[in-house]
Amino acid sequence: MRRAVTFGCTRPVPLHVPEHAGEACIRRPRRLAGPGLGRARVRLPHVLEMAEQHVPAAKVEAEAARLQVALEAARAEMRTLREKLQGALSKEAVEFIDLHALLLDDPELVNALDGLIRQERYSAAYALRVQRDRLTAVFDRMDDPYLKSRLDDLDHIIGRINAHLHRRDAVPRGTAGEVLVCDNVAPSELAQLQAQGVVAVVSAGGSPLSHSAILARSLHLPLVVGAADALSRANDGDVVMVDGETGEVVVDPDASDLRRYHQRELQDARERRDLERLRSKPTRTRDGVDIALYANAESHEDVARAHALGAAGVGLFRTEFLFLQRSELPDEDEQFHIYRDAVLGMSGRPVTFRTLTRRRQGRPHRPYLENEDNPALGVRGVRLSLLYDRVFDTQLRAIVRAAAYGPVRVLVPMVSCREEILLVRRRLRRAVAVVRRRGVAVEAPPLGAMIEVPAAAIGVYGLVDAVDFMSVGTNDLVQYLLAVDRNNDALGDLYSPLHPGVLRLLAHVIGAGEQSDTPVAVCGEMASDARLAPLLLALGLREFSLHPSGLLELRRTIRECRHRDLRERADKLLRARDRGAIERWLADATAR
Ligand code: PEP
Ligand code: MG
Repeated sequence: MRRAVTFGCTRPVPLHVPEHAGEACIRRPRRLAGPGLGRARVRLPHVLEMAEQHVPAAKVEAEAARLQVALEAARAEMRTLREKLQGALSKEAVEFIDLHALLLDDPELVNALDGLIRQERYSAAYALRVQRDRLTAVFDRMDDPYLKSRLDDLDHIIGRINAHLHRRDAVPRGTAGEVLVCDNVAPSELAQLQAQGVVAVVSAGGSPLSHSAILARSLHLPLVVGAADALSRANDGDVVMVDGETGEVVVDPDASDLRRYHQRELQDARERRDLERLRSKPTRTRDGVDIALYANAESHEDVARAHALGAAGVGLFRTEFLFLQRSELPDEDEQFHIYRDAVLGMSGRPVTFRTLTRRRQGRPHRPYLENEDNPALGVRGVRLSLLYDRVFDTQLRAIVRAAAYGPVRVLVPMVSCREEILLVRRRLRRAVAVVRRRGVAVEAPPLGAMIEVPAAAIGVYGLVDAVDFMSVGTNDLVQYLLAVDRNNDALGDLYSPLHPGVLRLLAHVIGAGEQSDTPVAVCGEMASDARLAPLLLALGLREFSLHPSGLLELRRTIRECRHRDLRERADKLLRARDRGAIERWLADATAR
């Protein structure tokens, strides 16, 4: 029987669509990571972290039955365990097993769970969470420490039932071709998962702008985020079909789904072939204006692809991604080798190294940094570098040394004021002096600021003479300008670069660059969405930096644009009063 149908589609949040869900006409999906097909490997969050989940009215009965099956399986498991261990275990241990078996029959638990599913239409897993919370409150009111400690038993039982809700017998683990279904996935585990044979990831939480999403794309690993009911629908061993482009996830695909999947694969291959023809073509508008396409790189593979696709250089090398799996930062020599190889990989085209932007998890160097109430507004980017000066100096020296092998630029994240750039400039000069004293003939690399803090964007005229170039990080700029967390899926529709305030600010920054002859690029995900290219060209942007996987598609779009027409229509764009008007402008620009 075909047990489950498509999910995640109620609100598709495909990895590759930079602006968030919503029915905007600009949400034409793009094919980058392609589809994925494999068997589910379900990674359950602790039941306490389960977000609220409902089931449709028509499925309530089935959900209640699913719970009963899981309860019965847990009981059977306890019986088997008891039989097996009888004699081998102490009396106390057997008593524990008996206690757990009793809990599984406890009407307080069983009836309450059934009621929550039937009356509140909660998923079985979420009902477990709610009931666990209720019972915890009761336990918390108890004074007796022994009784209080029974909470652990309750947790154990709830975990067991939850596991049975998602379990299938005899599922071979660790085989290639698995789709990881989880609540969230960290950037640091993606490469390892892929190495273990995971072909796609479906996560209940997350957002397309998270660093996990950015890295997954770099690894060509299809990822669907925001598939809220994934964990309640997929069980270990189910066949799962994933489309990273549309956000569609199908559990137990039938013959027609599989046909669709194979058609998608073919379509993907065809599109890739078409785009391949543009590899050696210039990125030039129909009226002859050259636009520079730089690549964002998170790995050496990205650098190689950027080179092969004719990128003008690397516009954003996120250095922190190289150090994800490590507990210690690499020393100067090791960093130097990594940077040097990237520079050599681009054979003479510039590589823009962004200095470290985040602390490594779990390694707070200073106690007051450990629990920042608001990390997005805390010690990130250049603030981090200026605080950990030794780490920063090491990184700068390694980058400067790499400059002996080809053109290099240094890009500083999260700049909010001129003073920060002046301080970094001083440190960069010092790093150059140190490297020169060692006998390496290098010039100071150009220094750029990421424009991702609204105050830096508004006050850009105070920065232009302190920097050699600027790169607008729209992922953060949009989040700070609109006060919308880029990683909070619940705010999905509010996070959009298509806000009149965002466009005006972009026009202001690009204009400041033009007037002062300071090159300006956009390196946030906004630049990678080919559908938005006419808009950015209209605002005067001449440099884009994006992941190599989107480069040819963007080149194709730019080659279809008429630069002069778009520039003439910029005023109208900037007069747009809402997102709808901006979308109409875009639709109109695209139709011409
Ligand atoms: C940005 O904020 O747009 C950006 C490119 O930086 P990151 O996504 O790494 O924060
Ligand atoms: Mg940023």
